[in-house]
Amino acid sequence: MGNRIPEELIEKIQRTSDIVDVISEYVQLKKQGRNYFGLCPFHGEKSPSFSVSADKQIFHCFGCGAGGNVFSFLIQHEGYSFIEAAQHLADKANIELPSLPSLEQGPGSTISKDSEKMIEAHELLKKFYHHLLVNTKEGQHALDYLLSRGFTKDIIDTFEIGYSLDSWDFVKKFLEKRGFTLSLMEEAGLLVKKSNSNEEFFDRFRNRIMFPIMDHHGNTIAFSGRVLGDEKPKYLNSPETKIFNKSKLLYNFHRARVHIRKNQQVVLFEGFADVISSTRAGVEQAIATMGTSITEEQAKIIRRNVSEVVICYDSDSAGIEATNRAAKILKDAGCKLKVAMIPDGLDPDDYINKFGSEKFKLDVIGASVPVMTFKMSYYRRGKNLQNEGERLQYIENVISELAQLDNAVEKEIYLKQLSSEFDLSMEVLKQQILQKEQQKNRQRTPQQQKITTQEQPKRKPIQSKRLLPAFHTAERMLIGHMLRSKDMAEKVLERLGLQFNIEEHKAIVTYLYAFYEEGNEENVSSFLSKLPSPELQHIVSNIAMITLNSEVSEQELSDYIKQVLNHQKMLMIKEKEVEKIEAERNKQYKEAAQIAMEIIQLKQALKS
Ligand SMILES: [Zn+2]
Repeated sequence: MGNRIPEELIEKIQRTSDIVDVISEYVQLKKQGRNYFGLCPFHGEKSPSFSVSADKQIFHCFGCGAGGNVFSFLIQHEGYSFIEAAQHLADKANIELPSLPSLEQGPGSTISKDSEKMIEAHELLKKFYHHLLVNTKEGQHALDYLLSRGFTKDIIDTFEIGYSLDSWDFVKKFLEKRGFTLSLMEEAGLLVKKSNSNEEFFDRFRNRIMFPIMDHHGNTIAFSGRVLGDEKPKYLNSPETKIFNKSKLLYNFHRARVHIRKNQQVVLFEGFADVISSTRAGVEQAIATMGTSITEEQAKIIRRNVSEVVICYDSDSAGIEATNRAAKILKDAGCKLKVAMIPDGLDPDDYINKFGSEKFKLDVIGASVPVMTFKMSYYRRGKNLQNEGERLQYIENVISELAQLDNAVEKEIYLKQLSSEFDLSMEVLKQQILQKEQQKNRQRTPQQQKITTQEQPKRKPIQSKRLLPAFHTAERMLIGHMLRSKDMAEKVLERLGLQFNIEEHKAIVTYLYAFYEEGNEENVSSFLSKLPSPELQHIVSNIAMITLNSEVSEQELSDYIKQVLNHQKMLMIKEKEVEKIEAERNKQYKEAAQIAMEIIQLKQALKS
């Protein structure tokens, strides 16, 4: 975890922050036995399956599997980075963090005095612009314009839309009178320096409809001003500043968060105006980038909060290209993707104005399709599939895409579609995919291959609701006891090492051995901070919550270890049995007999 706050401080923050207090600010908790229970803030539910342990300082939801320590809660719930979460807790506990020049300058991270002033000026102006728009004669024409474009009073208030006067120095005087340093206000993007002067400033935004832009905590940090007529540019945005970083900011994230959680989905738009239209239509889990394509950083922020993303970009060719790019970045971040296709080259606002909100909700967002379906219709565009050359090109494109799909079932479905539409045999299509996959693997460097295997634990953790096979339960019990006792971890290391069957368990155990080796005492909550992914944290918090408190006997320990090892032997037996059948079919009887002997030996080893 790439934090730069000294280890001791992180521990101090953890010791002084009580997880029950922190979570109580967001969830109503009730004490039941040793633990606290409440309605899970990460998934919609009617009866509480979200639990918090004061003893262990961890939380876990038995419904959706979310879990972790006090840091993970803030990261998952508020979309904070680790440093932001630490900062937040340190502030609460009055712990002074050293000023770290290398700290992320993201929205909401350490706020310097200058940044505070910049935000203050933005907040004041936002209120003033809004007042001008809704209450004054000067703003009337702008208000009329918005109302004529389908904006409602409600939406204007919700998004705190405003109006900037047609003046060169109104804002300058307004800020000056309130004691703001003009050069700092220039740095904040509110004023512009006259080109031939050092000291003279004028207003950046004049005679425009003003859309405030908030960071992820709701602080106003920038504006976008739209012209009333046909002047250019149509939208004038604040420049990048200390407080406004486009590559990290997601528009409307602070408002949408609660809706994202409720819907277990986020809809990503190309521009903030689409977000406002979509909210007007009742789709409130809406966010947008600020006129740039989505960055890896933004994708990570999204993934921390939700897994399903619906991309709803314009349906012109630029929008389609952008959808493809965004899909790749979001998929790499681990998001589940869908694409909402707006027909006829319309943008969301046009569509809603033309067909209404209900149709937008049902026929566009509600009818969003898997990325593969979107890509297939993308490759079809402008092609005449009656023409053999174009048809082959299309099939080739689709096969290349299918070769990149991880999900075998999905792959099969699309192949069947292709096969029946063009009357091709499944065998031939599968052969072609195989070739593409082999090409892809050859092109990969060993480094890349390593990365993909490391990333595998991203798979959704297996939920405890399902009945688990014996070896799986045994591994969980072992980890549970290893979390509680360093001695136990040593015993397991000696006898089992890393021979766990479940990849995630193997990873957890590796981190746990390292944790103890560094001299740490048993502490689930501290250990959770060492885990690199929320998926692993969820599994550990789950195990820590359900394990019985009793000491484990030597007999019990041996049984668990045996279950784990037996599973491997059983896998080997199965493999051998296939080999044996193969040998028999090839009439290699001597070899088949040899394999049969090995199977017998393995089976004997199982019993002992
Ligand atoms: Zn939950």
